[in-house]
Amino acid sequence: MSGDEKTVESLSKRLGGILGEKEEKKLDWADDTPDDDEAEEPRLSEPKYDVQVTLADQQADPNSPLFSVKSFEQLGLHEDLLKGIYAMKFTKPSKIQERALPLLLQNPPRNMIGQSQSGTGKTAAFVLTMLSRIDFSVQKPQAVALAPSRELARQIMDVVQAMGRFTPVRTAYAIPDAIKRGERVDAHLVVGTPGKMFDLIKTRALDPSAVKVFVLDEADNMLDQQGLGEQSIRVKNTMPRTCQVVLFSATFPDNVRTFAAKFAPSANEIRLKQEELSVESIRQFYMDCRSEEHKYDVLVELYSLLTIGQSIIFCAKRDTADRIAQRMTAEGHRVDSLHGKLDNAERDRTIDGFRSGKCKVLIATNVIARGIDIQQVTLVVNYDMPLTQSGEPDTETYLHRIGRTGRFGRRGVSINFVHDERSKEQMHAIEKALHCPIVAVPTDDVELMEQTIKDALK
Ligand code: ADP
Ligand code: MG
Repeated sequence: MSGDEKTVESLSKRLGGILGEKEEKKLDWADDTPDDDEAEEPRLSEPKYDVQVTLADQQADPNSPLFSVKSFEQLGLHEDLLKGIYAMKFTKPSKIQERALPLLLQNPPRNMIGQSQSGTGKTAAFVLTMLSRIDFSVQKPQAVALAPSRELARQIMDVVQAMGRFTPVRTAYAIPDAIKRGERVDAHLVVGTPGKMFDLIKTRALDPSAVKVFVLDEADNMLDQQGLGEQSIRVKNTMPRTCQVVLFSATFPDNVRTFAAKFAPSANEIRLKQEELSVESIRQFYMDCRSEEHKYDVLVELYSLLTIGQSIIFCAKRDTADRIAQRMTAEGHRVDSLHGKLDNAERDRTIDGFRSGKCKVLIATNVIARGIDIQQVTLVVNYDMPLTQSGEPDTETYLHRIGRTGRFGRRGVSINFVHDERSKEQMHAIEKALHCPIVAVPTDDVELMEQTIKDALK
C-alpha cells in the first residue's frame, strides 16, 4: 500500500467515526435536459424519515430556514394528514411550510409562487395542499403535480403516499411505462412529467376537468422556454380556469419570474434574496487539477472519501458519466451512472439502488440535479462545472446540484473540479453570483485535503 493509500484509509476511518458519532446525515442534470417524457417499477425500499435530534436546535433559531413559531396543528390541516406527518417523524414545520401552508389553504384558493432554499421542505407544503383539496368521494383527478424528471416524480409520490397514508387517496403516475395504453386514469392525485401528462390528457386517458390544484415543482426549470416550458404550458391550458396554480423552486431567475407571474396570476409570493440562496451547512471547495485526465485521477484518489456517506458526481455529458463509471468499475470500485439515455427500468433500478445505499457513489448528469432528496449524501462533486445551453456558468444548476447534500439542516460538502483558466473563471463567476466562498483544497496534499473535508463535516 502506498503512503497516499494509507492516508486515505486512515482518513476514512477517522471520518467514518465522525459521521458515525453525529446523528446520521441524509441527499440536478447536463447534456441531459430534463425528461419531457419518461416507467413505473415497484420501489425497492421505503424512504426513511428519521429526523435527527440536532434539528431541534436549528428549528429553534429564528435565522434558520427551518425555524417556525407554529406547530403543524396550528396550520389548519386535517387530522388524517397530521397523523401522516407525525408518522414521518416531522415535529415542527419549516419556515416555508409555516408561511406557505396558510396561504395555500386559504379559500377561495389563491395561486402561489414559493421560493425556499434546497432541502427546506417545499414538497410537504405542496403535497399537503394537494391532499387537503381532494374530495375523496369523487373519482376523478383533482390534484396534479409535474416535475422535471421521472426520478423526482417518483420521489414526490413517495411523499404523497407517506403523508396520505391515513387518507383514502388514490394515486397514479404520469411517467413513461407507468400507464398501459387504453387505461383510464381516475386517481385523485397524479404526479408526472410534462410530456407524458400531456399525452394522457390529449388521448383522453386523463380527464382534467375536475383538477383543483396544479403544481409545478422546480417551477423555474419547468417554465424555461428552452426546456420543459412548452409542454408545461400545454398541460396548464387543459386545466380548468379556476384551478389553483402552485409553483415552487429554490431558484427563480428574473426572466422566468416574469413569466411565472403570468402563469400563476395574482399569486401570493414568497421570495428569497440572492444572498439568501445558498445553504449555510454546505461547505464549498475546489480543486485545481492539471488536466481533464488529472480530474479522473483525483476523483479516484477521493474514492474512500466519497463512500463515507454517499456522493453524487455531476458530469456535463452522459458519455463522460458512463466512461468514468466504467473505468472506476474496472479498477474495482463500486459506482453507478445515471442519465437520460438509460431505459426507464434501468433508471429506476439505479436510483433505487442508490437510495437504499446499495451503491454509494452515483455518477450522473443534470437529470438528477434537482429535487432528489437522499439524506445520506454528504458529498457532491462537480466534475464538470455546470453551464447553460449557451455555455455560460449556470448558477441555478450549481445551487441545485450542491443542494443534493445538506438536506434539512444536515451538513454537506461540495467539491468543484477545475482544470484550466476557463473552468476556473466559470467557477469564480458562480462564486461571485452566490456571495459564498469556494475554498481551494490542494490536489497533491491528501492529508490536508482530508483534514479540510473532515473539518467541514464536523
Ligand atoms: P426541498 O423540496 O425544499 O428541497 P424536500 O421537500 O425534499 O426539500 O425536504 C427535504 C428533507 O427534509 C426531506 O427529507 C423531508 O423529509 C425533510 N423534511 C421536510 N419537512 C420537514 C419537517 N417539518 N421536519 C423534519 N423534516 C422535514
Ligand atoms: Mg424539492
